[in-house]
Amino acid sequence: MYDYDLLVVGSANADLVIGVERRPAAGETVLGSDLAVHPGGKGANQAVAAARLGARTALLARVGDDAHGRLLLDSQRTAGVDTVGVLVGGAPTGVALITVDPSGDNSIVVSPGANGRLTPADVRAAASLFHASRVVSAQLEIPLETVVEVVRALAPDSRFVLNPSPPRPLPQEILAACDPLIVNEHEAKVILGDACVSDRPEDWARILLAKGPRSVVVTLGAEGSLVASSEGMTRVPSVRVSAVDTTGAGDAFTAALAWRLGAGSSLAEAAAYASRVGAAAVTRQGAQDSFPTAEEVESL
Ligand code: ATP
Repeated sequence: MYDYDLLVVGSANADLVIGVERRPAAGETVLGSDLAVHPGGKGANQAVAAARLGARTALLARVGDDAHGRLLLDSQRTAGVDTVGVLVGGAPTGVALITVDPSGDNSIVVSPGANGRLTPADVRAAASLFHASRVVSAQLEIPLETVVEVVRALAPDSRFVLNPSPPRPLPQEILAACDPLIVNEHEAKVILGDACVSDRPEDWARILLAKGPRSVVVTLGAEGSLVASSEGMTRVPSVRVSAVDTTGAGDAFTAALAWRLGAGSSLAEAAAYASRVGAAAVTRQGAQDSFPTAEEVESL
């Protein structure tokens, strides 16, 4: 019996958002809107998304001993995430400085801060969390050597889900542990590199599978997703909704998929459920604020 349905290992950032009429040129100052501060980071987002659906969720992450760190801890606890694995100190909390122009386009500068100080030793020290978790998910906003250590720390029967964002080439040890590797088009193309010779998601999935993951999911935005394993490939349609803001859709999808896989769903069943969660998330503004409860998913 596991204590947690899902352990998320990853980043926690404060998103600092200012609306601007236009971006400043070098050496220039422009005035913007009031500052909005939101909890974010792919790890923190996935943990909140899973907990809001009802998954027993823990987060392993690092934040600074500062106001942004306290904001992140508060938002995790409010969502019902166990923060026993959230380490405090070592560097300021990670920050994303985001300007949004009137057309809705973002420019973002990220300071990884404490996320960059989540070390392999931190993972080893959290061995009891790994042994208590049915599924473990990670992303790439923490050091790659820390993700390698996550793969080594997995309990024998637990399952590893990776969303390699931001994407970079992955070592074989990580690829071989993924079940599934979840990629969007951009992530698929970066990981495939020169091996990407086609524009068909089926081809990406086939070549990615040959690199070692036990399964692959390609997310395709409003087109849904493609699930692939040695048993075959299936397209999973999305739910038709009127999209307001797609921020965090991938995090909501990944968290929901990981949770349903741990509950015994097949990959296609889990992707169908995750599609509904991703679709619900795009109907509302923001990332964590947009994640649905299980009841909201049912009523979609
Ligand atoms: P992001 O980086 O914006 O968080 P992503 O690129 O990682 O997202 P997407 O493929 O955009 O991931 O979205 C994940 C899933 O959410 C999709 O596979 C789909 O099921 C659902 N989804 C996303 N956008 C829409 C939409 N406009 N309408 C319906 N479902 C959507």
